Amino acid sequence: MGNQRNHRKEEDGGGAVVVVSASSQHYEQIREQRMKENAERMHKLGLLNLSLKLKKTPRPQIKKISLPSIQPQRRSSRIMTLPSVDYGSKRPRAPHQQHSSSSKKKKELEIYIPEGTNPEVYTEEHEKLLGDCETAWELYVDGYDEDGERIYDPTKGEKCHQCRLITISQLTSCNKCELPQGQLCGDCLYTRYGENVREADFNPQWTCPCCREICNCNSCRRKNGWMPTGNIYNKVVKLGFKSVAHYLIKTRRSVESIEGSGAENIVAQEIPETTQDTTQKGPIRTRRALRS
Ligand SMILES: [Zn+2]
Ligand SMILES: [Zn+2]
Ligand SMILES: [Zn+2]
Repeated sequence: MGNQRNHRKEEDGGGAVVVVSASSQHYEQIREQRMKENAERMHKLGLLNLSLKLKKTPRPQIKKISLPSIQPQRRSSRIMTLPSVDYGSKRPRAPHQQHSSSSKKKKELEIYIPEGTNPEVYTEEHEKLLGDCETAWELYVDGYDEDGERIYDPTKGEKCHQCRLITISQLTSCNKCELPQGQLCGDCLYTRYGENVREADFNPQWTCPCCREICNCNSCRRKNGWMPTGNIYNKVVKLGFKSVAHYLIKTRRSVESIEGSGAENIVAQEIPETTQDTTQKGPIRTRRALRS
């Protein structure tokens, strides 16, 4: 804004050409007047547009796509200061987002884990440490009574590192640390890590999730600066993942490890392509699958 403009030819609102001289007092006057006129015009238009908008459009449609937090992205500080709750499946959603049935379906599968103080990223090494099982583990049987109630036994029972319940369920024991942190009940081991407690028991090489540094229990997650995941097992299964650990590790890969593999731009998303098909399939868009 300055000298440059003083010699410009400009059109005024009426279409006449005004040559502005450098003795700019006159120019400044014209300029000021024009700015005033423009401001008035804009004001009118703005108000007009605004009133039209208020009448017609309900709200801007904001589609939230949850990407894995590959790069730390801050959410509002308001959320960060909230006390920790078992968020599980709850995610604040605007009423206008609940219309179509397909988007509703998508919403049902949306996993929301509040952001912690540290970014949650995993490497290929973590993925290698994910377990597996040959036979499926039947949930809600071991350590439950005939009515399907879990049997708590503070005297004879032992504590599961993951769910912290003291039950008579069969627990794992870690061949490396031999610590209570290596004790997981069958249901937790299966839903959170995709492993079978009986197979783990037979495997002399078996080590606990803590020793593998892939433990996703609330306490370990908090130690890492991450928020608890809540009960997301049913969702991750519908999304095609074997367990919560598989879901977390495969969807939160560090950028370096992805770049290093030459597979840039391939970022596993929380909602893989097979979302329409809710039948259980193998893990979707794993890097291994993409490479072959
Ligand atoms: Zn447990
Ligand atoms: Zn261990
Ligand atoms: Zn843990």
